[in-house]
Amino acid sequence: MKIILLYGGQSAEHEVSILSAFSVLNAIYYNYYQVQLVYITKEGQWLKGPLLTEKPASKEVLSLTVSNGGQPGETYGELIMPCQIKETNAIVFPLLHGPNGEDGTIQGFLETIDVPYVGAGVLTSACGMDKITTKYLLQAAGIPQVPFVPVLKNQWKENPKKIFEQCEGSLLYPMFVKPANMGSSVGISKAENREELQLALEEAYRYDTRAVIEQGIEAREIEVAILGNEDVRTTMAGEIVKDVAFYDYNSKYIDNNITMAIPAQIPDEVQVKAQEYAKLAYTMIGGSGLSRCDFFLTSKNELFLNELNTMPGFTQFSMYPALWEATGLQYGDLIEELIQLGLNRYEQRQ
Ligand code: ATP
Ligand code: MG
Ligand code: MG
Ligand code: MG
Repeated sequence: MKIILLYGGQSAEHEVSILSAFSVLNAIYYNYYQVQLVYITKEGQWLKGPLLTEKPASKEVLSLTVSNGGQPGETYGELIMPCQIKETNAIVFPLLHGPNGEDGTIQGFLETIDVPYVGAGVLTSACGMDKITTKYLLQAAGIPQVPFVPVLKNQWKENPKKIFEQCEGSLLYPMFVKPANMGSSVGISKAENREELQLALEEAYRYDTRAVIEQGIEAREIEVAILGNEDVRTTMAGEIVKDVAFYDYNSKYIDNNITMAIPAQIPDEVQVKAQEYAKLAYTMIGGSGLSRCDFFLTSKNELFLNELNTMPGFTQFSMYPALWEATGLQYGDLIEELIQLGLNRYEQRQ
């Protein structure tokens, strides 16, 4: 069988996707699968790369350039139309993070051309990517979250003073300002006062016309991994132990100054609650395949669900595969499970 690995992508999480893709390529069972690389450039071109029958020697093989324009030593890719990825006896693995990949757009396209794919479906991807929509769904399910104020770009442009008053009326500084559709902490800032709130909103609107402002809290960060279609499994919660104030892009992928504690050293009741909320949230957004559910845990052991990531970071430093490894499911077997879940979902829709 062929795995068509889609990676790169047009979002600000392009580089993260390449890191995730390389880790997956190192763990795939090549005695069962061949891997067709399909790289989506930052500009949105689709490049078909080599067919891999064994793990690549280096990450370089993933950086494809168009056949006629490359430098010596670069790996060439053939420019293709997206629909040309359709093949028999193949499954697409959209290892893309952020908008145009994790948000239902690619998933909708794959549904339209009728190919099986790994991970969440259209609705789940779209709802999980949009932090405002996620919050309303979680609210409906009665899952605790920090207070928030959604602010659309037009509302901000129209009347900044009203937005300041609205935020200050229901939230305290510091506040966290986020683009509604993004990941890897891109576009997120912490605001301690009005001036910073203004700058933070302007930063968020560089990525999305939808932003959300949240109550900032002092909290530990714990994460639960979820796997399954109808039959949903969760792991124990793990903790992101950070000595930085905020788990930003650099600490996630560049400095590596965080460590993971698996399982998180938290009371058993909190473990149980986190798994319960993660499962409920996953069900509420119609999850299939996988998701990583992120929580805040205060010193009083209050738990707030922060978000669901339907295509969580998948690098060798990432929490999602590490949580499964700790339960005895090795990285290669995890990929195998994800493929089977994707195939099962496809078959059930026929
Ligand atoms: P991911 O890479 O997990 O998809 P993301 O870009 O979707 O991340 P969040 O997880 O919402 O962003 O926030 C990124 C980080 O910012 C959190 O891990 C946490 O360190 C900090 N943070 C976010 N919201 C708050 C908050 N309300 N209070 C305190 N810290 C926060
Ligand atoms: Mg996220
Ligand atoms: Mg994410
Ligand atoms: Mg997060």
